[in-house]
Amino acid sequence: MSEVAVERLSNDKAFKVIFVLGGPGSGKGTQCAKIAKHYGFTHLSVGDLLRAEINSGSNNGTMIESMINEGKIVPSEVTIKLLQRAMRESGNDKFLIDGFPRNEENRASFENLEKIEPEFVLFFDCPEEEMERRILNRNQGRDDDNMETIRKRFKVFIESTLPVIEFYNLKGKLYKIDACKPADEVFEDVKAIFSRFRAKNITLLQFSLSII
Ligand code: UDP
Ligand code: MG
Repeated sequence: MSEVAVERLSNDKAFKVIFVLGGPGSGKGTQCAKIAKHYGFTHLSVGDLLRAEINSGSNNGTMIESMINEGKIVPSEVTIKLLQRAMRESGNDKFLIDGFPRNEENRASFENLEKIEPEFVLFFDCPEEEMERRILNRNQGRDDDNMETIRKRFKVFIESTLPVIEFYNLKGKLYKIDACKPADEVFEDVKAIFSRFRAKNITLLQFSLSII
């Protein structure tokens, strides 16, 4: 990764961003793949970007690897640089950002730097027992998919990520989805949310035109 200072990426481009949050194993990646295909977004999983960074042999690799294996949140100056690079390289202007922001520091840093507010935030809500079952049944070769790290990831999710979810809820930007169902059923609910969001925006646009 280049060592240049973190700079704003979105100076001359209007980016559309949707944040996708949920506990480990809630199905963020699965749903994002469907959404990206259906609606033309670029799916950026920050966990995947971090794993690719480790595999690329970067200087930060060892630090990132030990943080992931402890279920800890990597400093946002690292994750934001990776995100910016992936956004730039995609050439797209519509992004589904999966698994970020994970804490208040991530959220504030990204927003202050890029001056981007998400259009909305999807929250895949799933009970811990179900998430645990899914993680233990999948085999993605991830070192952090073991019981000890899973417990730590659940704890970090509750302590650090739920407050971010609540922040967006208070802003009226949160759409909570029951993620405990089969993937295709969950996706039906996701599609309903995209239609609702579109309808709401059209109504708002008509309203603002009618008061001019
Ligand atoms: N991670 C991080 N910051 C991010 C996203 C991920 O530090 O913005 C780290 C964190 O250690 C996390 C791991 O990467 O536990 C795996 O994240 P991912 O989203 O792939 O998995 P999840 O825990 O949501 O299944
Ligand atoms: Mg994932």
